[in-house]
Amino acid sequence: MSPRADVVILGGGPGGYEAALVAAQLGAQVTVVEADGLGGACVLTDCVPSKTLIATSETMGILAGSAGLGIRIDGHDGWVRPRPGAPAGPVGVDAARLNARVKALALAQSADVAARLAAEGVEVIAGRGRLTGAHTVVAADREITAGAVLVATGGVPRQLTGAEPDGERIVNWRQLYDLAELPEELVVVGSGVTGAEFASAYQTLGSQVTLISSRDRVLPREDLDAAMVVEDVFRRRGMTVLSRSRADGVKREGNGVAVTLAGGRTVRGSHCLLTVGVVPATQHLGLEDAGVAVDERGFVTVDKVSRTSAPGVYAAGDCTGVMMLASVAAMQGRIAMWHAVGEAVQPLRLSHVAATIFTEPEIATVGVSQAAVDSGQAEAVTVKLPLATNARAKMQGFRDGFVKLFARPRSGTVIGGVVVAPRASELILAISLAVEQMLTVDQIAHTFAVYPSLSGSLTEAARQLMRTADDGT
Ligand SMILES: Cc1cc2nc3c(=O)[nH]c(=O)nc-3n(C[C@H](O)[C@H](O)[C@H](O)COP(=O)(O)OP(=O)(O)OC[C@H]3O[C@@H](n4cnc5c(N)ncnc54)[C@H](O)[C@@H]3O)c2cc1C
Repeated sequence: MSPRADVVILGGGPGGYEAALVAAQLGAQVTVVEADGLGGACVLTDCVPSKTLIATSETMGILAGSAGLGIRIDGHDGWVRPRPGAPAGPVGVDAARLNARVKALALAQSADVAARLAAEGVEVIAGRGRLTGAHTVVAADREITAGAVLVATGGVPRQLTGAEPDGERIVNWRQLYDLAELPEELVVVGSGVTGAEFASAYQTLGSQVTLISSRDRVLPREDLDAAMVVEDVFRRRGMTVLSRSRADGVKREGNGVAVTLAGGRTVRGSHCLLTVGVVPATQHLGLEDAGVAVDERGFVTVDKVSRTSAPGVYAAGDCTGVMMLASVAAMQGRIAMWHAVGEAVQPLRLSHVAATIFTEPEIATVGVSQAAVDSGQAEAVTVKLPLATNARAKMQGFRDGFVKLFARPRSGTVIGGVVVAPRASELILAISLAVEQMLTVDQIAHTFAVYPSLSGSLTEAARQLMRTADDGT
């Protein structure tokens, strides 16, 4: 007889492990099948490693601006990181130590996830699993039947034909931390969130970066004002940004790489990083046998409570393509479990998702977008306040950034916002709370902010919107 579980989860990333924790806490018997390591790609290769790398680049950025704050580093005036070709300065990056730190931190985080699952009594099977029916999973020579199955298998880097990674000079983001040295001249192909984050980080760490964007600008799907600030900062810091340039192929060339662009131009560098998207890891999972529908790109089709087309089978995270964020994966997984065990459940609300692009400065967003307002899809009054006039920003020595609020005309209910600033990821929570709790600009305007603080610009923006919202203009 097959062992029975109440819930079997394929994949131990945030979609899978957060679901496992919820289900176990609700008293279910839970089994997680994980092929590579708990925490998933999120913890081991994607989100956690990249943000760890960025923590180091952030510190380099602070050091780079330190002369302007009155700090003297002997022998160096101004920008302290060594520019390509310049003699090594007193401050530089030890790539081997940096990469070792990134990997160790990821493993430690994975171990923490394992400990939490163990503490909740979740069984973990190491191996690759697949469905043999809507209620049956096979993994590591075992067959487990369950009342509910959750597919949370994530995705893998999309590959470009003619630009296959070799792990040495041509790499995807999962191979970056195996490089022995900091790339001297890094060509980043793809200017979406992942490309922009790595381009920003490596430029600050000391690489000479060329960013290749097939679109008119970097971060084409993000708030236009925010993307323009970031692109401007990139260029000012010496990054080469090639817009409307599609990479046709990448080849090794001696000790470097040659990236061929459509139109015939060639861009050379020491390394090439490919960031051209994620494809769902939904092949060889037995989805068809279980009656689970996927769309034309292979993403599992789900509704707002994470149900697939097969009764009893749920899906969460990147394999659904709903919104490729760890927080969304985790919420989809939790919702699936609440639904599966019959708890009251609120459907996934994408209009409330807070997200950050960890460039320097960071871009954080929540709620409606400027594009939705401009197209008339959302009715809103808007205010945008540059941070250049904020006293705290001046003290900290930065001027690139702004806060933007969207509110409903007349009622003044806050429905979204954008923050472009260092640590915007922390500042956005105030707007997130306002959106979630349907607070009005009036309520925010009457909330105390510390002086001096960047969050003071949020209350100031709300004050300015009070008038506009009242007018309905
Ligand atoms: C470079 C980068 C940076 C990112 N930064 C952020 C960020 O700052 N914030 C944020 O919110 N999001 C970030 N993301 C997105 C985030 O990493 C993903 O949205 C998140 O990992 C999705 O979680 P998941 O559980 O769906 O999948 P994953 O984390 O990919 O986990 C899926 C797991 O399933 C396993 N698996 C696959 N097939 C099987 C099988 N058949 N049997 C058993 N196990 C299987 C895989 O090995 C993997 O471990 C980033 C992504 C990238 C690429």
